[in-house]
Amino acid sequence: MSIAKAYSAASPTSPLSSSKIPRRDPGEQDVQIEILFCGICHSDLHQVRNEWKEVMPTVYPCVPGHEIVGRVTKVGSAVKKFKAGDLAAVGCMVDSDRTCPECKAGQEQFCPNFTLTYNFPDKHLGGVTYGGYSDSIVVDQNFVLHVPSNLQPAGAAPLLCAGITTYSPMHHWNVGKGKKVGIVGLGGLGHMGVKFAHALGAHVVVFTTSPKKKEDALRLGADEVVVSNDANQMQKHASSFDFILDAVSADHDINAYLSLLGRDGNLTMVGAPEKPLAVSVFNLIMGRRSLSGSPIGGIAETQEMLDFCGKHNITSDVEVIPIQKVNEAYQRLLKSDVKYRFSIDMASLKSE
Ligand code: NAP
Ligand code: ZN
Repeated sequence: MSIAKAYSAASPTSPLSSSKIPRRDPGEQDVQIEILFCGICHSDLHQVRNEWKEVMPTVYPCVPGHEIVGRVTKVGSAVKKFKAGDLAAVGCMVDSDRTCPECKAGQEQFCPNFTLTYNFPDKHLGGVTYGGYSDSIVVDQNFVLHVPSNLQPAGAAPLLCAGITTYSPMHHWNVGKGKKVGIVGLGGLGHMGVKFAHALGAHVVVFTTSPKKKEDALRLGADEVVVSNDANQMQKHASSFDFILDAVSADHDINAYLSLLGRDGNLTMVGAPEKPLAVSVFNLIMGRRSLSGSPIGGIAETQEMLDFCGKHNITSDVEVIPIQKVNEAYQRLLKSDVKYRFSIDMASLKSE
């Protein structure tokens, strides 16, 4: 066992602060990684504050972080996919049972026995898993990804959650040429959704509550931008969308978006607000529309997404911060003030 530097929260109301955590010695299937960058996902904030207590109560101390890019420092004897010095990435999962039908189908995100990267029972050391706001991590090779060499590590880190979470439902719902696609909420997930929908050839409309993000939305690949509290602008798009991806982190009216779907259109929720959202079923009945959700993506699909990003030169637009600014970054997330993902430079942990 080794001791790693990390930032953790001691309770739902405590700021994150410097701490020490145990990491296992690499076993024969393991990859030990020096973490270079870790993105800040709004899920980190939800979990640190125990906002998902009904479904996954937070165990403290909590070390969040599931958008990890780093350098391999050591590999176990059975590891063939990686060697010391490689750039490697870890997302939201670090293990699964590998025997269930979901795992066999390469859909580990639906495995009933998966292990999430943080706040999940740790099979190796007991207690819970600790995430990427840390200087190192040890992960089974089957849950470690390759990062294409043309991608900058700071901007590649958010692909491991914001990237795969938006890429996966777009593939499932056949986003592509000739499709009209809406993206609701231009934050970390939303801005990746815009980049992917644009790269896949769809007509992309961004819905934002922040008029000042309009120029950025167009630069990121949107064809149109709608300020969502303007009823006239919303009405112009009634019953016209094939697919809408909702990436909003807080309470909001999804009926305003369901009514914009055309016949058989689908709205997929990837945003996971703390409280239930009200649905007017008439919005579903009329037009045979559907409402669904989607969690991250499988490991093979995550590698496919990273390779797609390598081919199309796609990374997240990041604001790189030292770990000492993490609490300030959380405050800014709550104000929708992020352009468009914070990526923590873990070299800043050295001074702790
Ligand atoms: P984020 O960067 O904070 O972006 C959220 C965006 O939602 C904001 O930038 C803002 O966009 C919009 N928004 C915020 N408050 C709003 C409100 N009250 N009304 C309307 N719009 C509002 O968050 P993120 O990291 O992208 O995560 C988004 C959500 O996805 C979170 O709930 C997170 O937990 C969830 N998530 C789910 C999965 C999954 O597997 N399904 C994976 C990762 C994250 P505008 O300024 O453009 O309005
Ligand atoms: Zn996430």
